[in-house]
Amino acid sequence: MTPPDLPTLRDLDTRDPLASKRAEFLLPGGVIYLDGNSLGVLPARVPARVEKVVREEWGVDLIRSWNKHGWIDLPARVGARIARLIGADADEVVAADSTSVNLFKVLSAALHLAARKDSRRRVIVAEEDNFPTDLYIAQGLAELLGEARAELRLVSPAGVADAVDDETAVLMLTQVDYRTGERHDLPAVTRRAQERGALTLWDLAHSAGAFPVDLNGAGADFAVGCGYKYLNGGPGAPAFLYVARRHHASAPNVLSGWMGHASPFEFTSRYAGASGIRQYQTGTPSILGLSALDAALEVFEDVDMGQVREKSLSLTRIFIELMRPLCARHGFRLVTPGDDERRGSQVSLAHPHGYEIMQALITAGVIGDFRAPDILRFGFTPLYTSHEDVWHAVQTLETVMREGRWQDARHAERNAVT
Ligand SMILES: *Cc1c(COP(=O)(O)O)cnc(C)c1O
Repeated sequence: MTPPDLPTLRDLDTRDPLASKRAEFLLPGGVIYLDGNSLGVLPARVPARVEKVVREEWGVDLIRSWNKHGWIDLPARVGARIARLIGADADEVVAADSTSVNLFKVLSAALHLAARKDSRRRVIVAEEDNFPTDLYIAQGLAELLGEARAELRLVSPAGVADAVDDETAVLMLTQVDYRTGERHDLPAVTRRAQERGALTLWDLAHSAGAFPVDLNGAGADFAVGCGYKYLNGGPGAPAFLYVARRHHASAPNVLSGWMGHASPFEFTSRYAGASGIRQYQTGTPSILGLSALDAALEVFEDVDMGQVREKSLSLTRIFIELMRPLCARHGFRLVTPGDDERRGSQVSLAHPHGYEIMQALITAGVIGDFRAPDILRFGFTPLYTSHEDVWHAVQTLETVMREGRWQDARHAERNAVT
């Protein structure tokens, strides 16, 4: 197949049903941004919302805003907006804390739930290449509980299905691998794990807002995800967690803070968790962060996630096609599956000089990122990335390689964040 040319890509953009969404983002001039899988672009409606919350709600109404502006319900309202994107009911998702902290909460809850049914079920099965924070959280929790109650078992991605046995409490997976961009078949993996008596915990960091997810359709048990990647909630935005309604009464939150209490303003000394999803909150919600995320999610209100997936596949497919000649000529290796079904919304390329090449590319105005040891990552966010962007990104990379710009010594200096 010959790679598409620029007029063909412009034509695709003309016919793109999501094209108008781009105007809802404040894209900086002079850059092509292919890192929305790491930090989403600022939605145009966010600054005014944050300004209002700061100046009017905080500045003028002060403490009264908890009631007057519904601050107290904001975690649930934001959760409900996210629920629509991940196939959950509105009262099964809450926005709170970071993904790492939420993982601790739902992983503890899952271990508790599994052990109550069968005390032999104490193993957390996870992929050895999972995002480190997921593994670190599981390690910390396993250490806290001790061997008799928890054990982390790491397996290769290919071994996941077979690793679930009658000692498994929970299968903890990230649906899209942050390094390779490979996507798990969430319904199929969930079904297999549950057939073997295990619970499932999905990290949707690279799924929510990137393509449709149907947690209820799959019968998934628990999930967590990130507010600042495809959901565009801003740096360090609150994350979210999902607990299937059938578990609300039997999967308690061990980070039992007052905001998860059934009646926080009765100030009783004995903890009694709220009955619904609110029990998975811990402390006072971050209103500034939640407000930015809430406004960012308004962008998704009229969006058909099926169209998002279609465009995402089109963008990644074309990027892969356009990259093929460069792979051959300049030594890039495609790491992401070419098969649509097995691909998330990013494409990763391995190259021994990946870090330097990415720095040179960023200097040339195309922003992706680098993940050790040798991966260049390119995220494709259908709401604000066009097919023409993909074309220019590849042309720029071609120039960087042909002119050997990456060899400039300044591109070898490692930044704290890659
Ligand atoms: C980005 C990401 C996280 C982020 O966790 P934080 O607590 O927000 O830092 C967690 N898991 C995965 C798989 C991620 O990609």
